[in-house]
Amino acid sequence: MAPAASNTVMDAIRSHVLTVETAKTLVFWTLVCRHFVRIVRHLRARGLLTAAREAYLATVQRGFGLMMLLPSMRNKVAGELDKVTLELEEKLAPKHPDAPSFRSLPDKGLSAEDVSTALTKMSELPNTKWENGRVSGAVYHGGKDMGEIWKEAFGKFEVANPLHADVFPGVRQMDAEIVSMCLSLYNSPLPASTIDEYGGAGTTTSGGTESILMACKAYRDRARAEYGITEPEMIVPISAHAAFDKAARYFNIKIHHIPVDPKTRKVQIKKVRRAINPNTILLVGSAPNFPDGAIDDIQALSDLAVKYRLGLHVDCCLGSFLVPFLERAGYQTVPFDFRVPGVTSISCDVHKYAMAPKGASVIMYRSKALRKYQYEVITTWPGGVYATPSMAGSRPGAILAGAWASLVHMGLDGYTASCHSIVGAAKRIVHGIRKDFPELYVLGDPLVSVVAFGSKTEGQGNGLGKVPIYEVGDRMSKMGWHLNALQNPPALHIACTRLTVPVVDDLLRDLRAAVDEVQAMEEAGKGSMVMLYMDVLYA
Ligand SMILES: *Cc1c(COP(=O)(O)O)cnc(C)c1O
Repeated sequence: MAPAASNTVMDAIRSHVLTVETAKTLVFWTLVCRHFVRIVRHLRARGLLTAAREAYLATVQRGFGLMMLLPSMRNKVAGELDKVTLELEEKLAPKHPDAPSFRSLPDKGLSAEDVSTALTKMSELPNTKWENGRVSGAVYHGGKDMGEIWKEAFGKFEVANPLHADVFPGVRQMDAEIVSMCLSLYNSPLPASTIDEYGGAGTTTSGGTESILMACKAYRDRARAEYGITEPEMIVPISAHAAFDKAARYFNIKIHHIPVDPKTRKVQIKKVRRAINPNTILLVGSAPNFPDGAIDDIQALSDLAVKYRLGLHVDCCLGSFLVPFLERAGYQTVPFDFRVPGVTSISCDVHKYAMAPKGASVIMYRSKALRKYQYEVITTWPGGVYATPSMAGSRPGAILAGAWASLVHMGLDGYTASCHSIVGAAKRIVHGIRKDFPELYVLGDPLVSVVAFGSKTEGQGNGLGKVPIYEVGDRMSKMGWHLNALQNPPALHIACTRLTVPVVDDLLRDLRAAVDEVQAMEEAGKGSMVMLYMDVLYA
């Protein structure tokens, strides 16, 4: 080969190598830039302090994780954990030796009569009596009539399943009408026809958690399809329901928790704005939130949603059939529904203040175009084309019938009256605490049914304030009250229901006694209340 030719080849090879080098460098810097942008966005959203605290906690956790790899350590901790687990089980799922129990199928089936006896025994196990109104939330009772109406609905639709719409046309219609009644209550523009892409739309679900999961999934899938967002993020008040965290984990959406204003308990709008970036798909507000019953500034969130073209979900799971009735019942209200232009979806639990049987909630969207991202259609399944609107396949038609019956039984007048009495009870509690309990304070300015109260701190170092509030809670428990314990800050709350209405004076009286007792103690403990929401199974 002539030297000149060989040089050219060498050049070609060299330049080729250079191209690989260049490509490598390019990939390297792209990755560096991407990480850099990610870190900057993370820090901007979280704030330096929070980010540092989270990083520290994650490191500690990782440290523990590594330590747990040591067998000696693992055995030691496992022993302790087993002890705690057994204690918890003892508390939350005590064994009842007298109760009928079948850990495996009976060899011979029970007669209807024996089943009835067994069911009676099960229903009479010693429990926290909710009927006396001393339990916060939990049972959103619709009165004695309502129980009979449910039974009638369950009986008539005992085998119905909306998955087979053609077999059960009545359930199909009731399902659609529950959604439609909610849409109209929340002032959604209704579609002109079934093929109208505009106007509100929704579906029923099994509960608030599923409604929230479905909304997050719809926004995630829309963002991917329409804006090419593959690393979605949502911005959620710290006071919003844990279901948003669940959605973040299930659907791989990054979640930014935004602190609330310590005084108003509403999400800090400035911090929401700071967390917005090109990967943001969703803002969230609660109306009201569960911990302290504050309603976030939906109008301000809407302004941000409109400006940055984001989804805005309003969690009205708890507010359900109270918030839309505040005005009719003569109480102060704030903007919260589809009349606020930036609101694109709302979750509303009919199994809370609409007094429907458990297992019924509604997720509403501003448009069908958004709802379609909630749906899943599997066209290639050997079993046929499989299309479902939500998480479930088969669904209980009986629950939908019960929910529909509850709504039409109560009507606008029934819900207005129930809002009047329930919110009235909450207001009497707020007033009573503010007037007669100088050592306590009410969190925020509750407009609906939840009243949270803590102890004024007055410079106490233990963070629990002058009157350790959980100790007060323990004493209330001894008097038969079942209040919720909140954390950050430590506080107690009661979610008023119709059952609370007649016992407001008892509550204030017992609270006075509990606070006095704790104050009189030489050395008050810190109280042992922790709120556990646990679906306990030991099967
Ligand atoms: C109850 C509640 C939910 C979740 O409802 P479930 O029906 O328990 O799944 C969501 N958000 C708020 C504010 C709630 O109070």
